[in-house]
Amino acid sequence: MRKKLAAGNWKMNGSAALLDELANLATQQDADAPQVIICPPSPLLIPAVAATQTSAVQIGGQDCHSAQTGAHTGDVSAQMVKDTGASAVIVGHSERRADHAETNADIRAKVQAAWAANLLPILCIGESEAERIGPNTLAIIAAQLDASMPDGATGDTLVIAYEPIWAIGTGRVPTMDQIIETHDMIRAELTKRFGAEGDKFRILYGGSVKPNNAAEIFTAKNVDGALVGGASLKAADFQPIIDALQAS
Ligand code: PEP
Repeated sequence: MRKKLAAGNWKMNGSAALLDELANLATQQDADAPQVIICPPSPLLIPAVAATQTSAVQIGGQDCHSAQTGAHTGDVSAQMVKDTGASAVIVGHSERRADHAETNADIRAKVQAAWAANLLPILCIGESEAERIGPNTLAIIAAQLDASMPDGATGDTLVIAYEPIWAIGTGRVPTMDQIIETHDMIRAELTKRFGAEGDKFRILYGGSVKPNNAAEIFTAKNVDGALVGGASLKAADFQPIIDALQAS
């Protein structure tokens, strides 16, 4: 049985005031609830860890460098993220791939850095709109997964987030047939590469998940949760998504 996971990506949003929302969310968690990880910007990691200290909500970073230290102005290492008290980190988000020209090889190295720091990497993959319209959509996603994911990954040490780039922040969502087909393909690829372990990886869907579409998305058998951007910025939006996941 895979533990359901709702992860919130605040991107370059949020403030100390928004941490109050986080605390509200935290008070509504219980032991049977899905795992919840909030990923605020780096300067908010420490206060976010403090705000959720007595709750089941965990905190994650939005990125880490693959190196441990060095001349990388503006970057943070995986160990620095870990030292804030965070337990996870997003790697390979399409906005990082686009804004910072991150390659699959860079992202694979970041996953390994996250492991070395004992962080749970949430590895993002997903196609552009042109790739979705084109004839090779599934093969493109499979190749990205294969190239971004290091050997030695296990269901306990890596989470995958399938995020079609054209669905992020747009209010557009793939059809259920597309979500099911893509998640089933990712599961098949994981099983092909990792054998029985492939069944243990959690595969999140991300891209305009909202309170009004979450329940339907969670009906897909290989959707184990969501990576949520905009709707994770308000407890009033994020909590119903968590509740829909719990009910699924
Ligand atoms: C994201 O940032 O990963 C994301 C899925 O954003 P949104 O939910 O706003 O589309």
